[in-house]
Amino acid sequence: MPMTERGDSSMLYLNGAFMALDQGRVGVEDRGFQLGDGVYEVVKVVDGRLLWMEDHLDRLAWSLGEIRLYGALEGHPLHQILPRLVEMSGVVSGTAYVQVTRGVAPREFALPNDTPPTVLAYVRRDGFPGHREILDGIALHAVEDIRWARCDIKSTNLLAAVLAKHAARDAGAGEVLYVSPEGLVREGGSSNAFVFLDGVLRTHPANNRILNGITRQHVLELARGLDVRVDETAVSFDDLAHAEEIFIASTTRDVMPVVKVSASGRDDLIVNGGRPGPVTLSLADAMRAGIPAAIGAPPPVTLSRN
Ligand code: PMP
Repeated sequence: MPMTERGDSSMLYLNGAFMALDQGRVGVEDRGFQLGDGVYEVVKVVDGRLLWMEDHLDRLAWSLGEIRLYGALEGHPLHQILPRLVEMSGVVSGTAYVQVTRGVAPREFALPNDTPPTVLAYVRRDGFPGHREILDGIALHAVEDIRWARCDIKSTNLLAAVLAKHAARDAGAGEVLYVSPEGLVREGGSSNAFVFLDGVLRTHPANNRILNGITRQHVLELARGLDVRVDETAVSFDDLAHAEEIFIASTTRDVMPVVKVSASGRDDLIVNGGRPGPVTLSLADAMRAGIPAAIGAPPPVTLSRN
């Protein structure tokens, strides 16, 4: 297979073959395409290394089990394929995207018998928030969560998220904040939400209403290590008015301070005077410090004043 110039082209793994991303073809009757019958993962590439790959592949296996797509990864050793894609693409900073669908079968909702899954993965270059963007923080736009009741599965059914993200962008916000019909803060559009309230770091419990982010799990561990009190119980949207700090966390955004929350028909809420708070910055620093350590690079310059 011809090597493309390093860093020039995204490389794709599709059902056993490697090719340039734009050469990939999937059948019209693929159940991922027609029914959203599939799951996915996004893994961060830092300094040419895949961050927390095992955690992501474990969650992928779990998602596959929850949608009864058993044995889909047999013959697709992703823990070897993903590093190979990074190497072939020459990507230093970016993301690896993995998607597994129930494959091509005549269109019927009920599960087909013995259809080979579609397994694909590719790596793309991407930049991540730098010091300036982190210190500027982002705005969230709150919307009612109209997604299904299995948000713990990382499903490719993302239409509710597509519409919510569009609404957030229209509102001038950088991320969605999903609020339950009962008024509880659930998570971000593609991130988990954390609220520092009354001296306790609160986040929604890892149940069927949110995706249990890999970054979320690392944030909780870091917070405990920093002696920050943690409570996995949801905060009400009204409580955000008293929040000392708010941040979101995800693979592509790490720990990102939230400086404003908007919602249609309500006044904007300015968080901590519109600046990232000390707990958020300590966690952002701890996260950033841990990432290079995990991949054997020197630690970054700190953001917070100790
Ligand atoms: N919640 C949702 C709905 C998401 O799409 C994501 C991003 N995959 C997250 C949370 C954060 O998860 P992670 O830290 O694993 O990227």
